[in-house]
Amino acid sequence: MDRYGVIGHPIRHSRSPDIHRHFALLTGQHLSYERIEGTLDGFESEVVRFFAAGGLGLNVTLPFKERAFALAALHSPRARVAHAANTLGVTPEGTLWADNTDGEGLVRDMTLNLGVTLEGSRVLILGAGGAARGIVQPLLEAGIVQLDIANRTLVRAQTLVRELESLPSAVSCRAFSWPDIPAQAYEVVINATSTAVAGDLPPLPAALFDQRTLAYDLGYGKGPTPFLKLAGQAGAGRTEDGLGMLVEQAAESFYLWRGIRPPSAEVLRALRAACH
Ligand code: NAP
Repeated sequence: MDRYGVIGHPIRHSRSPDIHRHFALLTGQHLSYERIEGTLDGFESEVVRFFAAGGLGLNVTLPFKERAFALAALHSPRARVAHAANTLGVTPEGTLWADNTDGEGLVRDMTLNLGVTLEGSRVLILGAGGAARGIVQPLLEAGIVQLDIANRTLVRAQTLVRELESLPSAVSCRAFSWPDIPAQAYEVVINATSTAVAGDLPPLPAALFDQRTLAYDLGYGKGPTPFLKLAGQAGAGRTEDGLGMLVEQAAESFYLWRGIRPPSAEVLRALRAACH
């Protein structure tokens, strides 16, 4: 059977095996998908061993996404912007390739599942870590007109914006430190910080949100995240978590490996029902 998996540390909470097995069932694909507990000092050899034993594809999660990117010989443009990969595969000649499907997953969730029009939108991303890097390039290609990135550590946002300015894109990009976030309404505000669980998000200007604003948290859990609660109270017209992005980034990986787009909306509904 064709062999796939997800590698991370820790890996026991990953929902990827459930999602990919569901995709395989719905598309009639015969494949196995396993959880692999990677080790901090052995990640590279574990990946090499997996592919040498005939494995066809790996999803990569924390803390190995940058190392997965460095290990591969071929990189997609979106993985290059991210400096990180969440999807690995091999060419027919056996060369390891790396891609990053997080941003495509986000854009597909927003546009297809949530019916949001990104064309002409002004977008604010909170955070400039790995997840923010993973989503910026597909967002730039989705027709937005303004991309602002605010981060607690300003220099990380500035570095990312400088890199985006070197890409062939007409979108205006700006970097802000947290206290300097412009007090203006955005059509989309994305929380790409790692504060979804701890809830220690610094204060945000209420003016960021109005009835037209989609507040989107890459994090997810039972019930609204602290950011989504805050955005809703500040007047955001719509608040959504990142479960849809999780399913859509998996669907994009499945598509890269198998050439078939799985019915992701059905899997998202099942996952959402299981979460409540
Ligand atoms: P990361 O590389 O560690 O970056 C963390 C980011 O959060 C940095 O910008 C950091 O700012 C900021 N931050 C952390 N604590 C903060 C605080 N108390 N106040 C303000 N900013 C704070 O993590 P990541 O890989 O980007 O992951 C971010 C989140 O995205 C995680 O919750 C992850 O689960 C989620 N994610 C979801 C999906 C999905 O499919 N839904 C996919 C990928 C990631 P500094 O630079 O100042 O430290």
